[in-house]
This record gives sequence, structure tokens and C-alpha cells, in this order.
Amino acid sequence: METNGTALTELKGVGHVRAQALFRIGIEKAEDLVNYYPRDYEDRRELTDIADVTIGDTVMIRATLQNAPTTFRKGRLAITRARAVDATGSIQLVWFNQAYIAKNLQPGQIYVFIGKADHKYQTLSLISPKFRQGLDDERGILPVYPLREGLTQDFMRQTMRQVLELPGLQEYLPEEIRRKHQLCEYYFALRQIHFPEDFESLDIARRRLIFDELFMLRIALLQLKSNHIFAKKGCRIPPAPDRQKLLDAFGFALTGAQERAIREIEEDLASDKAMNRLVQGDVGSGKTAVAMMALFAAARGGKQAAMMAPTEVLARQHYDTIRTLMEPLGVRVGFLSGSLTAAERRDVNERIQLGLCDIIIGTHALIQENVEYARLGLVITDEQHRFGVRQRAALASKSEMPNVLVMTATPIPRTLAMVLYGDMDVSVLDEKPPGRTPVKTYCVGSAYETRIDRFIEKQIREGHQVYIICPAVEESETGDLHSVLEYGEYLQKDVFPEWRVGILYGAMKNADKERVMREFYEGSIHILVSTTVVEVGVNVPNATLMVVENAERFGLAQLHQLRGRVGRGAAESYCILKTDAEQPLTRKRMKVLTDSEDGFFIAEEDLRLRGAGDMFGLRQHGLPELHLADLARDLTVLREAGDAAVELLRRDPLLQEPDHLLLRRRVEAYISRGSETAL
Ligand code: ADP
Ligand code: MG
Repeated sequence: METNGTALTELKGVGHVRAQALFRIGIEKAEDLVNYYPRDYEDRRELTDIADVTIGDTVMIRATLQNAPTTFRKGRLAITRARAVDATGSIQLVWFNQAYIAKNLQPGQIYVFIGKADHKYQTLSLISPKFRQGLDDERGILPVYPLREGLTQDFMRQTMRQVLELPGLQEYLPEEIRRKHQLCEYYFALRQIHFPEDFESLDIARRRLIFDELFMLRIALLQLKSNHIFAKKGCRIPPAPDRQKLLDAFGFALTGAQERAIREIEEDLASDKAMNRLVQGDVGSGKTAVAMMALFAAARGGKQAAMMAPTEVLARQHYDTIRTLMEPLGVRVGFLSGSLTAAERRDVNERIQLGLCDIIIGTHALIQENVEYARLGLVITDEQHRFGVRQRAALASKSEMPNVLVMTATPIPRTLAMVLYGDMDVSVLDEKPPGRTPVKTYCVGSAYETRIDRFIEKQIREGHQVYIICPAVEESETGDLHSVLEYGEYLQKDVFPEWRVGILYGAMKNADKERVMREFYEGSIHILVSTTVVEVGVNVPNATLMVVENAERFGLAQLHQLRGRVGRGAAESYCILKTDAEQPLTRKRMKVLTDSEDGFFIAEEDLRLRGAGDMFGLRQHGLPELHLADLARDLTVLREAGDAAVELLRRDPLLQEPDHLLLRRRVEAYISRGSETAL
């Protein structure tokens, strides 16, 4: 592909307005259009002349609309009629109870009509035909593009034909890879995906382009993590000689799963190969303790360790926990976040740079350019699914020889795990600390409101605390969603005047957030009305009840995460999902939660019920969405493309060979496109 490409307005028929419309769907240059794939095809090889239409057949005709459709009523039936002509004859078009259709049909325009032929109202008719603009007189298999405002099917087709004639669409996959995986040529693939000669060619084209997407995704991921994949050296960190002291400080015995994960991490750290490990464990499985053992080892080994959390609230909480346990053992713990004053930040930065901090806990602030570490040897990201790949890589790049540990509670389906973490070692915490009772989960409508209120009071009287989660911050237009602010104020004034209600949402000032969280943690706030900012990591064991308003608005995995905020102590805990949505799908989704507490099962069910869609959250990972490939379906290609990517980068990690120049340019474009769409 040319580096600069062709301006959209250089194309025939594309003026300023249409260029804008294309821009809105992410197309900046003419060449970008070729990857805007059809969502369907229309087989116009089968066009019938009107003279040849036989009653009883379902036919496709291409004809000019002769007159504006007219509608008349016959009892309860609204009958809309029009007439269409082609060079061989004319035919009546009839629709029932679809009077609105008239608005979409202009007399004098050419359309393709598809419908069943019948004899109606004394004449040959097409019954309730579907139709599309038919300016294009091509007879082949035509693409059907997803349209947005300002774009028509005919415009897209004409423009695509022009773009396919542009000179810049060169093959960029090395020949060797194409041969090995039996992939057709890039240009052939593009032509066939847009204007297939037949369906076999279309399949061949799809396979090649799906391969490309997955190959690119994999290369991008591997490059972003490239500090690790090729057995880069990591500094050696032996287990802390006095590790038992920290274990004693925990005040609980490790679970078998925690012990296993810690052993695996300690082995990684002790070797001179860089650690690159994912710890995957459901909410409440005790990931923090595992992380702490690694942090402690680093500190004792004379290295610095940084742990990054996605929210201020969570980072603070980790900081408090870790400081409380480790400062008595002589470890110096620092905290860095955007909420610090400039002076405070300067002070912490200085201590980090001078090596006066052993462990630094913080938010994104940890990866800012001006933060320089004296001897960083271990980086941990907690709840890593909230970070883009780039942010993780940025943290790792702060060290010459970093050991990397990422932790996640989001059970992702296997397919995605393979793509995103294919090159990582994985420790799974598949065991929960003992003494946890399952969270009793119910799904109820708002008719239960007073009963729920009484139940909330009962929990508080017994000395416990309550979360109430709302989906939106401001009063929504429709008024049926509870907003945190209004609802919180209402609850305080009208429902629970004798208890303290706290309010928490993302857009609040950091200092305020922190204060509310602290007061909730310390127990002076009884009811916390919050958005999903408490979704990850927050740990207040005394909270025993979570009420989720408008539960239908949340993803299942998200609800599961939220529910993980309760059931953290010894007392019986509850989760009440409130929804008035009646749709069977909503009912089914809620039932998954009331029936199960297994995060992996819930994730799989979510995938099954919602379909792949954006479930994979590539955007969140800082990568462009896939257009053609479906990670659930295209497993074989996924594996092949992944292997090809690994093999290629092993030989030429920076894609510097002349044969790889075009590929490298594409990968660069791909990565920068992704980071633009990242959260
Ligand atoms: P998550 O995996 O969700 O990050 P945390 O690390 O926050 O879980 O742990 C949840 C709670 O369980 C914390 O209060 C922690 O102190 C406690 N915990 C962790 N490990 C154990 C254990 N082995 N036995 C008992 N309690 C534990
Ligand atoms: Mg956690």
C-alpha cells in the first residue's frame, strides 16, 4: 500500500459531503475502503426479464418504478401498489400493511425487486417484494455493504469499483507464507470479496482476508510484547529469604492454588529468563496475596517493583494493604497517581528515581514519561483487562530486564485467551479461600422495592454494609434508569434518613472518591450508591448485600464482577438483581447468574447468549476490531495465522528484511489505528 494513499475526494462521485460520510465510518483514504467488507451479497446472476416472469416463482427483476406507490384500504388491510417496467414488459408491485414503503420508493428510479410472482387484482404482480436501488446494471454477485447516514448501496458499489482500480493495492504477505498456508493473492482476494465471480472464489477470498486479520492481530500483539517473547533476559530475583514473615503477616493460610501460583512465579523470577505470566483467578480467589509475594521478593532482592491498577480507588486500596503488611518488614512503599499534587508527585518521582522506594503502587501515572525507575525489576498489572496492550508494554519498557506479571479476574473464553496471551505462561487460581459461603443471588422486579428496602435496613442493623449499583450518573432522558446522584440523594432523604448514604462515580474528583471509599471501608458510610467504579478489585469484607438497579443494562461478566464485591467475609451475603425487563433473553441471562457463581461458566454463557460481538473487547485491548474474522468460528485459521506470525517474527523480529517492508508498514498502520480507538 502507498504510504500516503489517495484522497477520497479524488474519486469520481465523491464530494465533500460523501467524503465526510465515509470519514465517519473510519475511512480516511480511498485505499481504506477496500477493507470495508460487504455484510452480504445479492446474486444478480439470476435476474429475470419481466416478460419471463412465471406465476408461482420467486424472481429477481431489475426495473424502473413507473409511478409513486398508492395505498388504499380494504377493511383492516392497507394495500400499497405501484408499477415497474423493464425493456421487456411491466409488472405490478403489491405490499400489504406496509404503507410506509411508499416513502422509500421514487418514481423514475431503477430498483431490483425480489419477490414471489402471483396474479393479484387482475394482473401479474410481485407480492411484498424486497427491493434495493438498482442503478448498477451489473449482473454478477453484488456486494451489500453496511450503510450509514449519507451512503447508499449504489454509491458504495461504484466507489468500490474505482478503488479496486487504484494502483496501491499490493501484495504484502511474504510469498513463503502464502504458499505454506495456501492463500490466494491479496488483489484477487479484494476483488473477489467485493465482486465475487462465484461463491467458491468468495470462500477463497474470505479465507485469505480472515487470515490477514488474525495474522495482523497476532503480529501486533507479539510486537507490542516483544520484549519478552524471544526469551529476553529478565533480572534474577531469588525468593525472599524471610518470605515466611510476610506469609505470617497475611493472617490466613494460602490456598493450594495460591501456593502453586506463587511457586511458579518464584521459579520464573529466579531464572534469568524474563517472567511473562498471567494469573487468572475469579473474583475473590486471592490474587493480591500472590502479587504481594512477588513484590516482596523483588524488594528483598534489591529491585524495584511497580504494580499498576486501573482505578484510583483500587490502587489506593492496594497501597494501604501492602503498606500495612510490608512497612513493618522494612519495605519502602510509594504511591503515585494523577490525584497527587504537583509537589507530591515530584517528591515521589524523586524517591523512585533515587531508589528510595522499593515498591510503587499506582495508576496510569506509573507509566508517564517523566517517571524514571532506578532499578525496576518487576512490573505487575492488576485487572489487566482494563488496560490496553500498549499501556502494559509501556510499563514493562521502564525496565531493561523486566519480569512481567499480569492479573485478571475476567474469565475470557479460551479462543480469546489464546490470541491475547498465547505467548504467556498462565497460573490459574481455581480455588477460593475457605469459609466463603456462596452469595445468594435473586432477580426481582421493582414491585419488591419496599421489601428490599426493609432487607437493606436489616443488614445494616446487623452491622453490615450495602452496595447499590446504578447504571448511569445523570438523570437519563427516559427517566427509567436510576442515576447515582439523584437516586443517592433520594435514598438518603426519603428512605434511609437514619443511615448514612455515600455516593461514588467515576467523574468525581479523586479526593472525593477517596474520601467516600475510605468512609465506606471504615464503616461510617452504611450504603454506597455507586456506578461500576467499584466493579474491579474493591475489597470491603463487611459489605454483605449488593443491589443492582436496572440489572438488564449490564453484561453478565460485569454483574459477576460486581457481585464479587460481597461474600468477602464470613457473614452470609446477598446479591439482588433488580430488573423490570420482561424479554426472555434478559430472563435467561439473569438466570445464569442466579444459578451459578462460576466465572468461566458465566463468561461462556454470556458468549452463547449474546454472540461473539464485541465480547472480545479488542478495543479495550487497544486493537482495531475484526471485520471478517470471528474468533469463535475461525479457530483453525486463527491457529494457522498465529503460528505463521510467531514463526515470522522469530526469524525477523523487527520485520527489517526487504521482503517484509510492505508488511511492516501495514503492521504499523494497524497498531496506530488500534491505539486511536482504545479507551
Ligand atoms: P481477588 O483475587 O479478587 O483480587 P483478593 O486478593 O482481593 O481477591 O482477596 C479477596 C479477599 O480474600 C481478601 O480479603 C483477602 O485478604 C482474602 N484472602 C486471600 N487469600 C486468602 C486465603 N488463602 N484465605 C483466606 N482469605 C484469603
Ligand atoms: Mg484483586
